[in-house]
Amino acid sequence: MSNTNFPELIWFNGEVKPWQEAQVHVVCHAIHYGSSVFEGVRCYNTPKGPAIFRLKEHTRRLFDSAKIYRFDMGYSQEEINQACIDIIKANGFKDAYLRPFGFMGAHGLGLNPPKVPLDVSVIALEWGSYLGEESLENGVDAAITSWNRLAPNTMPTGAKAGGNYLSSILITTEAKRHGYVEGIGLDHNGTVSEGAGENLFVIRDGVISTPPLTAGILPGITRSTIITLAEEMGYEIREQALPREALYLADEVFMCGSAAEVVPVRSVDQITVGDGKRGPITEKLQKAYFDTVKGVTEDKHGWLTYID
Ligand SMILES: *Cc1c(COP(=O)(O)O)cnc(C)c1O
Repeated sequence: MSNTNFPELIWFNGEVKPWQEAQVHVVCHAIHYGSSVFEGVRCYNTPKGPAIFRLKEHTRRLFDSAKIYRFDMGYSQEEINQACIDIIKANGFKDAYLRPFGFMGAHGLGLNPPKVPLDVSVIALEWGSYLGEESLENGVDAAITSWNRLAPNTMPTGAKAGGNYLSSILITTEAKRHGYVEGIGLDHNGTVSEGAGENLFVIRDGVISTPPLTAGILPGITRSTIITLAEEMGYEIREQALPREALYLADEVFMCGSAAEVVPVRSVDQITVGDGKRGPITEKLQKAYFDTVKGVTEDKHGWLTYID
């Protein structure tokens, strides 16, 4: 991983281990078939010390992802929450990206995995904004890719499961090969779905729209945070199917996710979005988001878990 520093310590199956010891065998089921579930969570250094943003919701979604595949996590949600806290403390991080991760271990190579609990790990890394710090202000150039997102009756996009990310890899690598920062997938109906690892919002005439859960998207926690913040600011939000041209005709477009945070999109398919820079509503929402995750504004939703 060229863009990250390896942490000294990793939580693995209930123990905090040195990085070198958190290893798996080549017959591990998940390596062959993508039989894993994971989360991406951030911890920010707030004025009151490091706090994990919406930890409970992320852990709940991790367990939801496991449930869809009938996987047994082998731990309670409280235990995973505690593991997240412990591994940040153990590494002495203040700002961190957390990767809670459950995977089918070395239990044979049959496609019907045995009824055994997943191996579980929580990795904490120091990792800057996924699409680049500078993109938070200047925005990114994105393109629709030739690869569609998964149709709901092929693989459940509501699960953050390892195998799904071959689709994301196709979408993002095609976009990068053509000189874009990120790719956007259409859904099985040909309407807008999301980025390779980010949900998408479109703004026109002050109305904020985002594709619905049926559009092959991952139900993002950042997406839900943005919807809440925007409603509190008095904006109208519509969860609705969006044709591709809605991206071209928008005043503003932005992508969001725990890893990417809130990133303006300044062009789509080389068509300039609005003024070709971060728009005013995107800027307001981005500020509200960072003020919320960094504990600058009051935590009225109980979204912050302080680590000490
Ligand atoms: C993780 C992810 C997101 C963002 O979800 P958050 O909960 O906001 O981090 C969006 N789309 C895909 C495909 C993802 O994997």
